[in-house]
Amino acid sequence: MKEDTVIVTSGRSPEDHNGAVNVPVYRVSTITHPTVAELESATKAGNFSNRYGRVGTPTTEAFEAAVSALEGGFNTVSMSSGLSALTSSLLAFLSTGDHVLITDSVYGPVRRFASSHLQRLGIEVTFYDPLIGGDIASLIQDNTKIVFVEAPGSLTFDMQDIPAISAAAHAAGALVFMDNTWGTPVYCKPFDLGVDISIHACTKYICGHSDAMLGCATAANEELYIQLKTFCVHQGVCAGTEELFLGLRGLRTISVRLERHMKTGIELASWLAARDEVDRVLHPALPDDPGHALWKRDFKGSCGLFGLILKDVRKEAVDAMLDSLSLYGMGASWGGFESLILPTNPGAYRTASKWEAAGPSLRIHAGLEDIDDLKADLEQGFAALKANA
Ligand SMILES: *Cc1c(COP(=O)(O)O)cnc(C)c1O
Repeated sequence: MKEDTVIVTSGRSPEDHNGAVNVPVYRVSTITHPTVAELESATKAGNFSNRYGRVGTPTTEAFEAAVSALEGGFNTVSMSSGLSALTSSLLAFLSTGDHVLITDSVYGPVRRFASSHLQRLGIEVTFYDPLIGGDIASLIQDNTKIVFVEAPGSLTFDMQDIPAISAAAHAAGALVFMDNTWGTPVYCKPFDLGVDISIHACTKYICGHSDAMLGCATAANEELYIQLKTFCVHQGVCAGTEELFLGLRGLRTISVRLERHMKTGIELASWLAARDEVDRVLHPALPDDPGHALWKRDFKGSCGLFGLILKDVRKEAVDAMLDSLSLYGMGASWGGFESLILPTNPGAYRTASKWEAAGPSLRIHAGLEDIDDLKADLEQGFAALKANA
């Protein structure tokens, strides 16, 4: 089946739910069993189905089956947020004395978790230059367990050569974990790039409507899946069933939504790149972006999220610009139907590589509004910037 058909059909089984098109929300804690034999079978070690609400419900299994089908992995574990999917995946595989390599462009809260809690547990953490490629081999130690990649990088949108990094990691017996939130399960297929665990903030495009928190991690094979799922069951990590329903609902339309986010994102980014006030745009789908060749090789599309560096200008001018905008909300997260803008400071987080910017940095999420209205709002924003320069 072609991908758009998989998006519509995967994880659905109306025959099991009185013909209902969507798998209903199973509001479940207790699951009862009619006989002792069935009770014993449901609760035996290694059974993750039909056991207890925390371990999973039919809604959970439908969501996980749908994501697994799209990602092309063995199976998926859903969790309460994208961050929880990232931290739980790391904890499921790292032990005291292990070493983990994490890209310097990683989503900020993962850096914070690694620098505080992983190090507290005696796990060695090294951040590396996202552009390192196959030279990652020189940083791999005997105790390196995981190489963590994210492409394009959070805030800076730099691309990583994931197949080269995967090859070096696997040659040394290390696993590769990827935050695939930007690529989405539609535009990037991490398992084709050598990744072992692919992780999503489903809060973004999978839910897609800024109304739910959800995360998931998909494992390339059964062994990795069992280790991850067992850890989550033991730790008590699970996703809420209402959120899983919203995740499934969002997933059914992800392909058509993304087409529009991609189109508007590229058009806005190109328009911004040509403006006097802008030093450069950070968007790997633009032909002159330094990461364009890697993006073209490894991704099938781009989402609506990209970065922007203004020419040097005082903070008050940028604040006036942002305050004047009416269509771009300011706040965390992205991937919903609405446009967003956020001042960022990527250079402040880097420890393993330099990040130079001529002026203030912004991050834009291109929503589903009309492109002309989005440009007009920025146009009057630039007028406010100039008036306060
Ligand atoms: C938002 C985000 C996360 C975290 O997801 P939450 O659901 O907000 O916890 C992880 N990675 C990336 C790249 C993100 O943008």
